[in-house]
Amino acid sequence: MEVLIPAERIQTRVAELASEIARDYAGTPVTVVGILTGCLVFTADLIRHINLPLRVAFVTASSYRGMVTLPGKLEIRDELLPDITGRHILLLDDILDTGKTLTRVVAHLIDKGAASVKVGVLLRKMGRQEVPFEPDYVGFTIPDKFVVGYGLDFNDEYRHLPYVGVLPSAG
Ligand code: 5GP
Ligand code: MG
Repeated sequence: MEVLIPAERIQTRVAELASEIARDYAGTPVTVVGILTGCLVFTADLIRHINLPLRVAFVTASSYRGMVTLPGKLEIRDELLPDITGRHILLLDDILDTGKTLTRVVAHLIDKGAASVKVGVLLRKMGRQEVPFEPDYVGFTIPDKFVVGYGLDFNDEYRHLPYVGVLPSAG
C-alpha cells in the first residue's frame, strides 16, 4: 500500500492540533463528540494530549452511497449522546470530503441545544467540497484519492493501520 501520511507525521500533527485546541478552550469545559466509526483513532489520540476538563461522546453518521455516483442519504444516530444543552462541542471526524456529513451533524448538535460547535478533522480532501464548510482544525490536506487507515476503512477493513494510505486499486 502507498503510504500517504506516515504514522510519525500523524502523531506530531495530532499533538500540534491538541495544543491549539487546549489553548482555544482554556477555561471553557469542552465536550468532544466523535462521529463513529472513522473518528475512533483520531479521537483516542487527540484527547490524550488535551490537558483540560473534558467529556467524550459519540454519534453515528452513515451515508448509504454504495455507488460513488449515487447521492448519499445520511442517517444520524445519537442514542449514545448525553444531554448537550449549553455545552461547548468539539466535533471530530476522520475526513472532510463533500462536507455534507459535517454540515448535517453540526446542525443536529445545535438543534440539540449545544452552546457552540467547533469542528476538527484529521484530513481534508482537495477539490471535493460540495457545500461550503470551514472546519476549525485540520490535520492534513490531501489530494482527491480514496484513503484508508488511522480510522478510515474500506469495507470496514484497514481502520487499525497507524498510517494513512492509498489502496492500490482505488483512487
Ligand atoms: P462527506 O459527507 O464529507 O462527503 O463524507 C465524509 C465521510 O465520507 C467520512 O466521514 C468518511 O466516512 C467518508 N469518506 C470520504 N472520503 C473518504 C476516503 O477517502 N476514505 C474513506 N475511507 N472514507 C472516506
Ligand atoms: Mg465517516
